[in-house]
Amino acid sequence: MKKILIIGNSLSAWAVASAFINKKVNITIIGNKNKTFGAQQLSPNGFEALKKLIQNGDVKNIVYEIVKFEINSYNNNETKNLKNFYFNEFDLKYFSVSREMLINFLIKNVKNNIKVNEINKSCVGIIQREPGMLEVLMDNKEFISADVIIGCDGVNGITRKYVCGTTKIVKKQVFRGTSNDKKQLLLKQKTLELNFSDYGHFVSYPFIKNNNTYINYVFIPNRLFQNSNKMLHKLKSISKFSPIDWNEGHFYFYEDEIQTIHRNNVLLFGDAGFSFEPHLAQVGNNIIEDANYLKILVENTNSYDEIFKDFSRNTCEKKRKLKSISNIVGISFGINTFTKLRDKLVSNFSDQLMCNFLKKVWYD
Ligand SMILES: Cc1cc2nc3c(=O)[nH]c(=O)nc-3n(C[C@H](O)[C@H](O)[C@H](O)COP(=O)(O)OP(=O)(O)OC[C@H]3O[C@@H](n4cnc5c(N)ncnc54)[C@H](O)[C@@H]3O)c2cc1C
Repeated sequence: MKKILIIGNSLSAWAVASAFINKKVNITIIGNKNKTFGAQQLSPNGFEALKKLIQNGDVKNIVYEIVKFEINSYNNNETKNLKNFYFNEFDLKYFSVSREMLINFLIKNVKNNIKVNEINKSCVGIIQREPGMLEVLMDNKEFISADVIIGCDGVNGITRKYVCGTTKIVKKQVFRGTSNDKKQLLLKQKTLELNFSDYGHFVSYPFIKNNNTYINYVFIPNRLFQNSNKMLHKLKSISKFSPIDWNEGHFYFYEDEIQTIHRNNVLLFGDAGFSFEPHLAQVGNNIIEDANYLKILVENTNSYDEIFKDFSRNTCEKKRKLKSISNIVGISFGINTFTKLRDKLVSNFSDQLMCNFLKKVWYD
């Protein structure tokens, strides 16, 4: 039986483990469970892929449907509505999902179908002693052997270094928060809201967690305010968002062009393989899509070398496109000159244009 070692213990680790639920393989997941926070958007491509990946589970129980996408400009404590787009007018299904519930849902699905060994430790290195024989060195100096290693250990993980060497990583500041304010919940029902401001842009949407509804907030400072140590203080003074308990964090993405994601039966998956800016809300959705694609390959191909080559060829091209679109979108969200021109352009977007753009991002 093939011994598959998954390094990491977050969204991509459990999504990738789901790709093997119909195979007779020996799976080990190595990594410390980290705290999950808030929610993510689940676009139609991610939702469809999740349904296929889960097979029998009812995804509807963990998602919250979003019907309206509202774009505003928010300055001097005044909100000006620029554009409203209704997903259901184009037969598009859009959702949000709590990160904790999504990961727990994937874990349950995997464990209902196959036995998984879980090791609550960190890996410090990968060694190939001879062709086809991989070993992972653990932080307690133990070695674990494997036929295949799947690196789900994020942007700064050891598998990325093993496959690609040193990568230039860009680090950007982001603020996140959740709220269960009753008035806001009523006002923002089923709404994904994007607010441009002089300081940066805010994204918010409701989600459900254990039968309660919350609002997930993300604020990305624009170039002028990135890494300003006064940002948290400024956020408190922006009245619309001041009651939120903001947490400072970072997002990372690779500066270099994506070249390869596998070497010697080590495959990079999730953020370890590709990471781009979060402005299209696609990084996590692509993890679910990729897991589903890998599942099809695993169930129809015998050679892992062929699987990795096919997976790499098909996913790298798509990620290159998404990376550049996300970069352009980020620049236009974060501009601080010509903002009136941007706002005018956004207000004049036709619904059809918006739909075509979104479909290109999700399905191209
Ligand atoms: C602000 C923001 C908003 C976002 N919004 C969305 C959204 O709306 N929709 C969407 O689709 N995506 C979104 N994303 C992207 C999505 O959240 C990430 O792409 C996703 O979390 C990456 O998951 P991952 O499992 O690959 O990596 P990570 O979550 O980074 O997990 C890596 C895991 O590996 C473990 N690990 C690391 N090193 C080792 C080691 N040496 N040994 C063992 N374990 C190790 C870590 O402990 C961790 O558990 C957003 C991201 C950001 C920053």
